[in-house]
Amino acid sequence: MATDGAGPDGSELSEGLGAVARTARGFELLEFQDRYGTPCSLQASSLAEHEKPGTSAVWLGPDDAAPKVLASEARGLGVDTAERTGWVPYPIPPGVSLTTRMHLDREQVAALILHLQRWLDNDSFAAPNLHIYSAAMQPATDFTDSNMEPPYRKRYTPGQMLRCECCNRKHPARDVVVQCYYDGWRFWCAPERGCKHPRLIEAKRRREFRNRSRGQKKRWAVVRHNA
Ligand SMILES: [Zn+2]
Repeated sequence: MATDGAGPDGSELSEGLGAVARTARGFELLEFQDRYGTPCSLQASSLAEHEKPGTSAVWLGPDDAAPKVLASEARGLGVDTAERTGWVPYPIPPGVSLTTRMHLDREQVAALILHLQRWLDNDSFAAPNLHIYSAAMQPATDFTDSNMEPPYRKRYTPGQMLRCECCNRKHPARDVVVQCYYDGWRFWCAPERGCKHPRLIEAKRRREFRNRSRGQKKRWAVVRHNA
């Protein structure tokens, strides 16, 4: 994970969010402020699904909901204030609970990291669009997914209807080819079947491959590494 490196202003980001402290009960605690100066924290949860304390989940987010009310509406909501404009604190009765921090288990943390890293690398939470010709086309009636460990062989019966990416229509497996990616299978009309004609496919393939930049290939390699 690339957490090191210079920030936009040249500052080093390798220090992270600050020094790691501990709560009174011994759980790790990282206190920081968000972009607007709101006090936030990352804290190891006492949730004990895993045996080692503090490794099952984390709390992340603002420490305090800091509810406010428009000064102009404060009186109507029972808040006594001399302010006439802007926001004034809205006192919450002791018996009222507000959720501020997220409680994330290990799987959710991993997923969040993935989305945030994609955003840093590619400006998007989503995986970059996979190039449709970067995985081999195999007949849907007999293909092998080599992304799986061990490789997984699948044979659809020739009459099985499969929805194709190219035309968003279902076609029988005998007329369909499949590409296997790490995140799923993509079905396409086979050449000269369904909506496809081989000359059109080849022309598009050549055009798309030419247009594929070195940067695109590099980004894809990074994401695949992180995934
Ligand atoms: Zn089609």
